[in-house]
Amino acid sequence: MSSMFHPKFFGLNVRTRGSQPSICVPTFSLFTRWIESTFGVTEREGRLVRTTPKSITGEQGAATALSELTGEPVEHCVEAIQQGLLAGYECEPHPETGTSPFAFRLHQFISKGDTIYASLEEERYLTLQRQQYVPGGHRARVLLPLVFCRECGQEYYCVRLVDGQYIPRRLNDQDDDEGAAGFLYVSVENPWPLDDDAVRERLSDEWLEEHQSGPRVRRNRRGNLPMAVQVRADGTLQGEGASNGTALGCHFAPAPFRFCLQCGVSYGFRQREDFAKLASLSSEGRSTATTILSLSAIRRLRDTPKNPLPPKMLSFTDNRQDASLQAGHFNDFIEVGVLRAALYRAAQRAGVEGLRHEELTQQVFNALDLPPGAYASDPGVKYQALAETQRALRNVLGYRLYRDLKRGWRITSPTWSSAGCSRSSISRWKRCVATRRSGASATQPSAQLLLRRGCG
Ligand SMILES: [Zn+2]
Repeated sequence: MSSMFHPKFFGLNVRTRGSQPSICVPTFSLFTRWIESTFGVTEREGRLVRTTPKSITGEQGAATALSELTGEPVEHCVEAIQQGLLAGYECEPHPETGTSPFAFRLHQFISKGDTIYASLEEERYLTLQRQQYVPGGHRARVLLPLVFCRECGQEYYCVRLVDGQYIPRRLNDQDDDEGAAGFLYVSVENPWPLDDDAVRERLSDEWLEEHQSGPRVRRNRRGNLPMAVQVRADGTLQGEGASNGTALGCHFAPAPFRFCLQCGVSYGFRQREDFAKLASLSSEGRSTATTILSLSAIRRLRDTPKNPLPPKMLSFTDNRQDASLQAGHFNDFIEVGVLRAALYRAAQRAGVEGLRHEELTQQVFNALDLPPGAYASDPGVKYQALAETQRALRNVLGYRLYRDLKRGWRITSPTWSSAGCSRSSISRWKRCVATRRSGASATQPSAQLLLRRGCG
């Protein structure tokens, strides 16, 4: 028991329940009250509400806060919190109500990610902590949430214009009743042009129509064009006549997101939901979150002793469709992970030459290095039958590899090519076309996959 968890320090009583000693934390213990208000409930506007889930360890964890409060080392605080929670869990239930004093649940320590918040300045202040203003800035520098293009990673401030000031907005909140919802775009390398000709150059064809004087922007889309604005650090709009001062030159694009001002990827006007077009750090699905947590728990189980029974993870769900969906999601996640790991290793071995289509499946098969028992119905298979079985697996691998590289529905695990980690090219294509034109016999074009350096 650490010095932090000394009974006297926390006002703990040790009581016996049958032959088993149990620790009971009195209601008025300062530490118990601290634990309850940190992990359990807190008071907000006169009402008791659940606290935001919090990690015990880490910089923002509860142990660090307790250490600052008491001056005790963080590791002692971690131990004290864990023991305090377990003591509450094991404590005798209330004799009349039958409820435990503090029956914690694991999800109280796990919360989803948020996003990055940035100030409206050339030298931006960035933070992962949700807050309204840059600390110490006396409300002169607002912080706005960033969202990112799923195609190129370009960041946008996700905002709403209310009474001449940009305020934070949630990505799926596109309601225009309380001000114009949209995105602020700032780029030094590739700013959105101010000149009409240059704007037309950057727009995709569906935005333009032919006119006597040349192409022009369709009338019904003019209201959706990005608008040049000057924004001060406190989020207020600076009028055209005002001196430039320290205002930041931005472009405001109304929501829903129509196209990326950086990479040009554009979306149909019927697609109003922005979730599939832009991402924040909190963009995750419940199935993915469950899969990641389950995977982490299962990996930990491997380290636990197997006696008397092998350890298992039990999951509860209230309907069989959810259970089957989750099981499928988990298996799919593992399959994609294994496949991409093998592809990564194969591409890494190939070096700058990359992998050619005709050798891709063989190299990935070699990188996987699976024992026959993992894929053959008869693990003892030999000679010709073994060669046939391996060929069948290579064919399946080839299909799965190309299917995974194809741009598809994986929102939270984008393909390598869409995440910019790999590049496919068709070598000899030009030579093939030239040969066909000249009437000579053509060679088949060959696909090549290159892994970009620094990825993985
Ligand atoms: Zn983009």
